[in-house]
Amino acid sequence: MSDQCIFCKIINRQIPSDILHEDELVVAFRDINAQAPVHLLIVPRIHIPNLNELLPEHSAILGHIHLAAKSLANESGLAETGWRLVINCGPDACQSVLHLHVHLLGGRQMSGRMA
Ligand code: 5GP
Ligand code: ZN
Repeated sequence: MSDQCIFCKIINRQIPSDILHEDELVVAFRDINAQAPVHLLIVPRIHIPNLNELLPEHSAILGHIHLAAKSLANESGLAETGWRLVINCGPDACQSVLHLHVHLLGGRQMSGRMA
């Protein structure tokens, strides 16, 4: 928990959000400014600022996030049409919230360009 972190506050129910999934390692909720019909954020419960701070002991969390993404994509009806995961890390990637998060995007044809 980081006192000023908005995602820690969402995880701890100090501010509201549309939470779709939570378990012992991760929480998933709708992005407040959706860029696709389905735009979810999957975050670890523990405060890891970004991938620069990733440690070997976090590997289970990263694996778990991907399994949660697969389930959420399936529940959101995206398994056939496709979906995209994005992790922004640092200023050049426009990371705006310093709590590691994976964007799950789908529900429309994405751009073929990634950057
Ligand atoms: P980033 O740019 O750091 O990769 O992504 C941060 C994401 O968090 C953005 O897509 C932004 O819309 C979302 N976001 C920022 N503040 C809130 C919030 O208070 N609630 C929710 N649900 N999403 C937020
Ligand atoms: Zn945090």
